[in-house]
Amino acid sequence: LTIGVPTEVRSGERRVAMTPQNAALLLKKGFKQVLIENGAGFAAQFPAHAYEEAGATLVNASRVWYDSNIILKVRPPRISTRGLIGVNNYLEGFREGGVIISTLQPQLEKNRPVVESMRRKGLTSFAMDMIPRITRAQTFDVLSSMANIAGYKAVLEASNHFGRYLTGQTTAAGKIPPCKVLVIGAGVAGLSAIATARRMGAIVRGFDTRSAAREQVQSLGAEFIEVDVKEDGSGGGGYAKVMSKEFIEAEMKLFMEQCKEVDMVITTALIPGRPAPTLITEEMVAAMKPGSVIVDLAAEAGGNCEITVPGELSVHKGVTVIGYTDLPSRLPTQASTLYSNNITKFLLSMSPKEKHFGIDLNDEVVRRSIVTYNGEMMPALPPIAP
Ligand code: NAD
Repeated sequence: LTIGVPTEVRSGERRVAMTPQNAALLLKKGFKQVLIENGAGFAAQFPAHAYEEAGATLVNASRVWYDSNIILKVRPPRISTRGLIGVNNYLEGFREGGVIISTLQPQLEKNRPVVESMRRKGLTSFAMDMIPRITRAQTFDVLSSMANIAGYKAVLEASNHFGRYLTGQTTAAGKIPPCKVLVIGAGVAGLSAIATARRMGAIVRGFDTRSAAREQVQSLGAEFIEVDVKEDGSGGGGYAKVMSKEFIEAEMKLFMEQCKEVDMVITTALIPGRPAPTLITEEMVAAMKPGSVIVDLAAEAGGNCEITVPGELSVHKGVTVIGYTDLPSRLPTQASTLYSNNITKFLLSMSPKEKHFGIDLNDEVVRRSIVTYNGEMMPALPPIAP
């Protein structure tokens, strides 16, 4: 079987789905060829010669799509405005019965047309973002590996736009107080942001609707702040549920008080399959000190802050609001390395024997991540109970 890795064409995307190291591993495991689009790894600092040295073959984009059995991607293939699959990605040249493994987010309205195109073309497709977060599948978990990077990079982006130290200092010229950071949502990204801000010397507070997050926040040396409403936010599979109106009002009251005091707010609150809850209002942004920074990691799902412009940096009443939706791509080498490790291990889990690739729908990880199977839509299953 031949594996193909095209260049990511989405504007600003610097990641690549496969590193030279993993290309060598797939060849060693018995895959016949790994075709890499010339330049695919360039923005992630993987030069063409590194792929060649690993035994991969460099080809142009159309050869990747025409000659591969399995295509590995980071972002879903694009489709043209005329409803056809975009010539940029050459998906129309992909063979019937071919397999695509990528992030796909099939539940989002904007991705329905591409999923429908794959179905019509008789393809089998897997969404890396649908892999269940069970222990066995941890090594395939791109949501965690990318969220971990996003949380780290959020603090670095915030500190770049914050005209002061994060750590406190006592110098002969005067005392500098440490920066205060509030992190809303203590999942993978939030915990990574907390750890990063702590390492940079900030005073950090964390909030989450799931009481299980308390110990994790505290173990990183941050304070866990709470509201006086007894309601736990844990839903199926370790994810959050939609909270009552009473709880949301109480947490927003808490955030209003916090906004007057802290210098940075990193928001990461998400509920799978739903728009992100609005937790930081314009009034709260206006209440922050001038020079403060907000990074909204929920920007792609609509944002936790009313002022966020997805993909953009804006300044509102002296407060910088960052809504970048490409934070993992801003650390392209390591984001690609981790993504490539995840996708390669997932692919190899379906290739238990050399030269054998088989789709077993009885495998829970396969069944939950498969979106189309030989041109048939595979309905999403409800989340696994915790
Ligand atoms: P996520 O990105 O879906 O959400 C981020 C956080 O926002 C969550 O912690 C959620 O509780 C919180 N949140 C939702 N609504 C909120 C609100 N109104 N106010 C404040 N916070 C709110 O979450 P995630 O990072 O994907 O992780 C969710 C859980 O899954 C965590 O417990 C994590 O440890 C667990 N997890 C398990 C595995 C595994 O076992 N393989 C892998 C990854 C994550």
